[in-house]
Amino acid sequence: MFSRSNEKLISETDIFYCPFFVTSLYGSSTMKICIIGTGYVGLVTGTCFAEAGNDVICVDVDPIKIDKLNQGIIPIFELGLEPMVGFNQKEKRLQFTTHLEKAVNESDICFIAVGTPPNEDGSADLTHVIDVAKNIIRLAKKEIMVGTKSTVPVGTGDMIEELFKKEFKYPFTVFSNPEFLKEGDAINDFMKPDRVVVGVNNPHILPLLQELYAPFTRQRDRLIVMNRRSAELTKYAANAMLATRISFMNEMANLCEKVGANISDVRMGIGSDPRIGSAFLFPGIGYGGSCFPKDVKAILKTALDARVNLSVIQAVEEANKKQKTILVEKMEKYFGPGKLKGLKIAFWGLAFKAKTDDIRESSALTLVEALLQKGVEIHAFDPQATDNVKKIYGDKIVYCKTNYDCLNQASALVVATDWNEFRSPNYEKMKKLMKTQVIFDGRNVLNKTHLEKLGFVYYGVGL
Ligand code: NAD
Repeated sequence: MFSRSNEKLISETDIFYCPFFVTSLYGSSTMKICIIGTGYVGLVTGTCFAEAGNDVICVDVDPIKIDKLNQGIIPIFELGLEPMVGFNQKEKRLQFTTHLEKAVNESDICFIAVGTPPNEDGSADLTHVIDVAKNIIRLAKKEIMVGTKSTVPVGTGDMIEELFKKEFKYPFTVFSNPEFLKEGDAINDFMKPDRVVVGVNNPHILPLLQELYAPFTRQRDRLIVMNRRSAELTKYAANAMLATRISFMNEMANLCEKVGANISDVRMGIGSDPRIGSAFLFPGIGYGGSCFPKDVKAILKTALDARVNLSVIQAVEEANKKQKTILVEKMEKYFGPGKLKGLKIAFWGLAFKAKTDDIRESSALTLVEALLQKGVEIHAFDPQATDNVKKIYGDKIVYCKTNYDCLNQASALVVATDWNEFRSPNYEKMKKLMKTQVIFDGRNVLNKTHLEKLGFVYYGVGL
């Protein structure tokens, strides 16, 4: 038995023999979809569903965001998103509203895509998810299917289902559909997913989900069906595994530095083994962003509550915390203890990773914070994240228009985000602009050999 609910349950055997699983309904028809929460996930999801021909209404509680979207202004930076939103708005397949009631009652299926930030104790804060569920219960006047795209702990679907059972008068289905898109590549990830995980405790919704995802899984059926609790855990397990790879490589890089090995060579040496694979093996200044840190904390809390010891993931988090300030240690070692005060430091990259304006839990900002505390004068450049950083740091940082502007008379350069445009800069120009030619490259994006030949002092991670 998979669930505590009294809906008709499916078992492993059903998964293999249920006729819905052997019939692939490619040749889908238009569906009416409501996406609740129009952030990084909700906006991309809604837009991509509309792009496939569906009628989508994206709902958000933030009227400014909705106003902007209705004027064609995209509130986040995501490559390819703006034209796709514009096109689908023009085709009248994509609408934005703050009115949940109308949206829900005009839709066949609703996806919850609101934030699930961490609570003090590491657990996921489900306030927004529960709010949305309660609002649907209050406002919907018809049968409804509700899926969680938000990353939610195991048992959240059960909790939502209980709420519906108590107060909702119409037929309903609650399913899990965790989202695996990556910011910076979100459209591609959604349009051509590696897999689509759906967690259902009642198979009657499967034909609809198969039909909905058919346009995105034409090459082969990538719909992986499981029970709701497994789907919820799959998302956390995936992020915890990716975070583990990062912390593992960071620790290997730290070891390389002490024993005269080179992490880039080690990376290629191990990544060529198909059991390991080459993706996600780059060392750096620790993982950040809106997902890994909070999801690692949340799975640890889930395990704690279940009295299961996840010692590996615990260590992953501790290693990450240390990694976030390794550059500060290197800088103090180079300049001398207490000597960072008053230095002008050029800072390339503020976003938590390249190709996004997202600065949530950005390791770059952990560094900024640590350097500001040491009295460093930071002159920073980021291709997309500056406006978001300004809202938090105001004039504590000097914001530069180009990466070269930061370098003028700088005592050192810190590279904190792996933007492509930082990879092949004009080293001669950099040399002329800087007061002292020292680089702390937290992402190993610059060419150490080339820089050292030109007289730079270069510190990477594990090189
Ligand atoms: P976000 O903060 O960008 O967007 C959330 C949106 O929900 C905001 O616009 C907010 O105003 C809105 N909202 C909050 N309460 C609401 C309510 N009651 N009704 C309607 N709208 C409401 O968050 P995000 O990055 O899109 O993440 C959403 C969820 O998806 C999280 O659980 C996250 O862990 C998960 N996720 C995120 C990513 C990612 O890369 N960002 C990837 C996969 C999964």
